[in-house]
Amino acid sequence: MTTVLTQQDLYDTAKELALEFSGTAHQWDQRREYCWRNVEVMSDAGLMGMTIPREFGGQGASFLDVLKVIECVARECALSARILVESNMGGISAIMAYGTKKQKEFCAPIVINGDKPAICITEPLAGSAATEMSTTAKKQGNRFILNGHKHWITGGGVSKLYLVFAKVLDENDNYLGIGGFLIHRDLNKGINPKGFVVGKRERTMGLCGMPETELLFDKVEIEEDFVLAPRSGYRKGFAELMMAYNTQRVGAGTIAMGIAAGATHRAKQYLCERKQFGRPLAEFQGLQWMLAEMDADVHASRLMLHDAAQSSITSSSGFPDMMSAARAKFFATERAIKVVNDALQMFGARGFGSNEPLERMYRDVRMFTIGGGTAQILKTQVAGHLLGMPTPQVRNGYAQRD
Ligand SMILES: Cc1cc2nc3c(=O)[nH]c(=O)nc-3n(C[C@H](O)[C@H](O)[C@H](O)COP(=O)(O)OP(=O)(O)OC[C@H]3O[C@@H](n4cnc5c(N)ncnc54)[C@H](O)[C@@H]3O)c2cc1C
Repeated sequence: MTTVLTQQDLYDTAKELALEFSGTAHQWDQRREYCWRNVEVMSDAGLMGMTIPREFGGQGASFLDVLKVIECVARECALSARILVESNMGGISAIMAYGTKKQKEFCAPIVINGDKPAICITEPLAGSAATEMSTTAKKQGNRFILNGHKHWITGGGVSKLYLVFAKVLDENDNYLGIGGFLIHRDLNKGINPKGFVVGKRERTMGLCGMPETELLFDKVEIEEDFVLAPRSGYRKGFAELMMAYNTQRVGAGTIAMGIAAGATHRAKQYLCERKQFGRPLAEFQGLQWMLAEMDADVHASRLMLHDAAQSSITSSSGFPDMMSAARAKFFATERAIKVVNDALQMFGARGFGSNEPLERMYRDVRMFTIGGGTAQILKTQVAGHLLGMPTPQVRNGYAQRD
């Protein structure tokens, strides 16, 4: 029986854990190690799978509740905050919205007990142009045969659930559209699907404790029961499944904003402590104005992200709407990079040294205008919506449509 936590319980727990995680964030980064200890603590505290409905053992928490928890944790440990995003948003949101009862019953306990599902879209030749993917899932009797290659997959090798997007082919190789395929891998239990290989791990500048890996699929067999079938059929299905990704965008924006809030807090304290020219730095107006702008950027980002989370209440999909999520993500992530950069500047040489968390935060925050939809692609989506113009995805895209 799940203990149901109130919004206040979740927030208080997150604040407590964030303090604990603050002491070890440096260690995960330096050792490039996944923070299993934090995962265990977050799972015990009920923070993994908070958005999963109560009937499947989760808290049934709203996206807004989850954002507040994520911000709190991101101020101290962005790595743990990423795990929270992916155990509450993105892949798990898609499964809870579009999955069968059997899939939900299967996936929910795995996530609640500490898994962050991996969402697998990007390929070497299909980045922003995701629909140009070449991974295929071909129907064969009551199963699909998956072949292909993904890269930059967050949590490759540590995740137990993988939601892999692939082009669906019927038995005669006719293309039907793009669908989602669930793979379960748990080495502790000896579950390692044949033909599924976790490839090379990238060496990243930030968020170093999180593996970003290649995944290779060589005739991996997937039972029909493990297909995440969009309600609208495969042809329009990718767009439908990707609506669940709006949650991940809002979550990623919140991590960036949380890092920026943590950096602003540290900068404020430092300005009061450090003296130059016989006065605390806090008395220099040039720095005061920087601090005021940092605070305003964090505040504006938080309002946009919360607004995007709240749009899920009225949107027909039950997810944040595309416009609010895209706008909030590019705004919050670009501002966060600037805020953390300014905070580091206020620390002078100390900011550049690795004894201060600022240099780690600076490396960590840089990712968020790239992963989960680049700032340019999100701006293209927003502008396309405002102007009523479809996003041209291919060379001569407008001409072809005319
Ligand atoms: C740390 C990290 C974690 C990631 N995790 C995952 C994951 O778990 N699962 C997953 O599937 N993917 C993941 N990704 C991949 C990520 O989604 C892609 O990096 C992203 O979609 C961009 O693709 P790309 O890197 O191939 O860049 P490209 O698409 O090659 O783009 C290069 C540059 O050109 C710009 N650009 C491209 N097209 C346009 C256009 N039409 N107009 C204007 N500018 C354009 C882009 O904004 C970018 O600045 C992750 C990436 C990172 C860095």
